[in-house]
Amino acid sequence: MREQRSYPTEAIILKHSDLGEADRIVTLFTPQKGKFHAVAKGTRRPASRKAGHLELLCHSQLQMAVGRNLDLVTQAQTINAFTRLRNELWHMTCGFYLAELIDRFIEDDSPHLDVYNLLLGSLRVLEADALEMHQRRTEGEEITVHDRDRSWLLLRYFELYLLSYIGYEPVLLTCAHCNAELKPEENGFTPTLGGALCPNCSHLWSQALSMNGLKVLRLLRRTEWAKVPRLRLDAVLRAEIESVMHGLLRFYLERDLKSWSFLDLLNTRSAERERKGTAELT
Ligand SMILES: [Zn+2]
Repeated sequence: MREQRSYPTEAIILKHSDLGEADRIVTLFTPQKGKFHAVAKGTRRPASRKAGHLELLCHSQLQMAVGRNLDLVTQAQTINAFTRLRNELWHMTCGFYLAELIDRFIEDDSPHLDVYNLLLGSLRVLEADALEMHQRRTEGEEITVHDRDRSWLLLRYFELYLLSYIGYEPVLLTCAHCNAELKPEENGFTPTLGGALCPNCSHLWSQALSMNGLKVLRLLRRTEWAKVPRLRLDAVLRAEIESVMHGLLRFYLERDLKSWSFLDLLNTRSAERERKGTAELT
């Protein structure tokens, strides 16, 4: 059988790094081959025709050539550039965060079609949300921190499904230690045990998990995104859910994610501005 020398694939661009004077190594996430690195020649030259189709988070149709070490991108055509998402700092940061999660959690060269569809679907949701925010701003409506509730919830949804798809499904129905069914009361949560814990196992809790916190996590896990209701969560509940999810991610990765500090910074700044009643949110 003759070796296949070239092949087409669609891809989401997760990451770039420079190679030599004018080339780039791009990290691609594809439906059939999963995540892998490829060389994009000449894409740092101003006249490059491929560069625009290989921007971070771009969803593109590529033609690839099999290389000795890394495959080469020979042609690229944008399917969706997610332009609106790119023009809203908050949404763009959310998008980069999802790409960072995939880059950290997904091993090279193994297909994860469910995770691919999760990422593509989430970028589309962020794009639509960014468009809605842009339109409202254009119409002179004031944007508040609560306008980020939906995208904030999407990040938690993404984290939950990503972990579940790769075999780290958080335990949310029964106690992760003694297996007792969790009741609607204050329970606990311990990332190193992979989930929620009952009050009898409170000596093993690393944090408390309120009834509403557990409810939101369960709701997200069993509902497809389009059917997740528009919840308005107060700051305490959001902090609790975020702490649970980040605790899990940190446990599995054994480190923090770079995007967290920037997402936090954007949130703190807007909350401050809103308190002072000044200026538009970015
Ligand atoms: Zn227990």
